[in-house]
Amino acid sequence: MAEISLHRPYPAGEVRAWDFETEVAVIGFGAAGACAAIEAADAGARVMLFERNSGSGGASGLSGGEIYIGGGGGTDAQRAAGFEDTTEDFTAYLKAAGGPCVDEAKCELYGREALGHYAWLKAQGVPYRGNYLPGKHIEPADDSTLIWSGSEAAAPFCTMAKPAPRGHVIQHMGWGGGRPLVDVLEASARAKGVEVMTDSRALALVQDGERIVGVIVRIDNQPRFVRAAKGVVLATGGFVFNETMRRKYCPDSFRLNDPIGDKDDGAGIELGLGAGGDAVHMEQFFTTCPWTMPESHAYGVFVNTAGQRFINEDCYHGRVSRCAVDQPGGKVYLLLDNAHFVQPMDFARLSIAGTGDSWDEVEAELEMPAGTLSATMAVYNREARLGRDPLFGKREPILVPLDQGPFIALELNFATSYFSFFTLGGLRTSIDGEVLDRGGAPIPGLYAAGRCTSGLPAWGHGYSSGLSLADCTFFGRQAGRRAARG
Ligand SMILES: Cc1cc2nc3c(=O)[nH]c(=O)nc-3n(C[C@H](O)[C@H](O)[C@H](O)COP(=O)(O)OP(=O)(O)OC[C@H]3O[C@@H](n4cnc5c(N)ncnc54)[C@H](O)[C@@H]3O)c2cc1C
Repeated sequence: MAEISLHRPYPAGEVRAWDFETEVAVIGFGAAGACAAIEAADAGARVMLFERNSGSGGASGLSGGEIYIGGGGGTDAQRAAGFEDTTEDFTAYLKAAGGPCVDEAKCELYGREALGHYAWLKAQGVPYRGNYLPGKHIEPADDSTLIWSGSEAAAPFCTMAKPAPRGHVIQHMGWGGGRPLVDVLEASARAKGVEVMTDSRALALVQDGERIVGVIVRIDNQPRFVRAAKGVVLATGGFVFNETMRRKYCPDSFRLNDPIGDKDDGAGIELGLGAGGDAVHMEQFFTTCPWTMPESHAYGVFVNTAGQRFINEDCYHGRVSRCAVDQPGGKVYLLLDNAHFVQPMDFARLSIAGTGDSWDEVEAELEMPAGTLSATMAVYNREARLGRDPLFGKREPILVPLDQGPFIALELNFATSYFSFFTLGGLRTSIDGEVLDRGGAPIPGLYAAGRCTSGLPAWGHGYSSGLSLADCTFFGRQAGRRAARG
């Protein structure tokens, strides 16, 4: 008997008997897997969905349920709030957010079809209240729909595309809209006849010649052989909890200590690589420290341990945090004056590193060389009074002088403060979810979607909230539809 391994497909010729027969086998019941299953079933395929946990959810179920949507003139929520959002602007922002890792074809397709995807989500039963919540929010504290969730209005992004808020959140009171989002998708999948097998962990793919024809799943501690006549869709999430993979592919993430997600052990990426797939942008990760809570802290100024600014602080909190983690010295400081300082949230684990009646005194308390931080703040305040930030392009209304003492430096320490993070790299796929080999050719019968792939949220420095679930739900559908064609 051949070895059952994540790293090598099992030869179909050695399968003695198939325990289950289906047309499309989906692995993983988060947002990507649910959407793949729904779409494959809608396309007329028999679908089985295998989930290693005892229920649906994964990281999707823990998330805020916020989905990045725009273009086509704007969604109902955008238009009601007075924001026109053209497909060109929306697509240009998606590409800018992908930075050096951008998948242009995926941005263009989603740019054109996001509005239709929003209608599809509603048709599955996802409720949206339809209103706009101004201000800077990580997630709405109420049940609002539309928030600013990226760096759209900040330099350099605001010069590349006309800004609009695009974070669309399921109607749900408070944080944590991911669970109700997955519940709606699960109900839709079950209503369409998707056969769901929980406590069922995929152990290996099965290959016949070039083609993936099935999967081996552990059920009741026994390997079960599943024949998938049309294809297997991997939707198993990222690899943030797999230390071996992170050490190999994403060593910079070891500066941080708060991985988030649901086990995310990279199994789908390993399965895809074992079948000859390619993995890209594996070094990329999202991170954020909730430094904009309370909201008045959004007016602060960041400096590194040399007392130098490194970012326009009006960007998305995750972009600021990701740029912070690039700084040497293991920590950065958030500078605030008396007009903007409020006791930080306990869960952010920020400490007060220095105080003073002048920025010189704060500089001395931080043991920085004289004339470093104080010079930074002198220039910043002088220019802010003139309504400009010539170094980084920070813009009003966030651009204000910090000149009302006493002054304070909060320490964001990469090792001890709450920097949550998850991985963004994964299998290279076509816009139809086909897993591609290193030469760019599809591996017959093998599809993937969500965070086991690299997609719209490809670049940690450009991440915007909602991009991951946009990618999971939309390209999950693409993969399911393509798999159903066989
Ligand atoms: C707290 C938090 C908040 C977030 N908020 C947002 C947000 O508001 N908007 C946004 O866009 N993104 C958000 N994210 C990121 C986003 O939730 C994830 O990137 C996304 O949900 C990943 O979806 P997925 O379907 O690829 O994987 P998952 O949702 O993790 O689903 C993968 C599933 O596969 C199963 N699985 C894994 N291996 C196997 C195996 N071998 N066999 C069978 N099953 C397997 C897992 O158990 C899991 O259920 C957030 C993340 C977290 C943790």
